[in-house]
Amino acid sequence: MTKQEVTRFITYIQDLYNMPGIETQEAYEDWCEAFANVTFEQGKRIVAQFGKENTDRPTLPILIKYRDALFPPTADKPAPCIVCNGTGTVLVEKRIVMNPRNPNDDLITIFAYQCTCPNGKRFYPTLPLISREIIKNKHRDISGIWRVEEPAEQFKWGAKRPVDKKEVIQQMKDTAKSW
Ligand SMILES: [Zn+2]
Repeated sequence: MTKQEVTRFITYIQDLYNMPGIETQEAYEDWCEAFANVTFEQGKRIVAQFGKENTDRPTLPILIKYRDALFPPTADKPAPCIVCNGTGTVLVEKRIVMNPRNPNDDLITIFAYQCTCPNGKRFYPTLPLISREIIKNKHRDISGIWRVEEPAEQFKWGAKRPVDKKEVIQQMKDTAKSW
């Protein structure tokens, strides 16, 4: 309902129940907000249902309960998407070579991207956008992370030697550039 319709709706209830007017602007705004997503006709059905089950005058909290029972808010469902599984974010595993002579030193890091589907823009607008190129040659595992396609035994979480943070950050930057 528009504000005008809410005003009409309030008048309708007041006439029906011989009620005094709404006292404050705040209370009026609450009514406007409460019935913004239902039509005037739906509002009348809410009042009718209330009237069937109650003999006293309606209050806003009670009408809201009837509103939700009769016209539940439509679930804000995410768009189906096979890349992000509807989450909006794409998690991609990336191998960072710390020491070219020892693969055991490699770090496996996970980067988060914004999916190109509507969920991405909606839930993770600040993340860099994923591209098909980035997930090329990767597969999404059961936890939803896009893994590198290499034999699992080659990979270890973290490095075996103490990690130089600066070095890691530089590696990550270099790796990101090469994508
Ligand atoms: Zn998606």
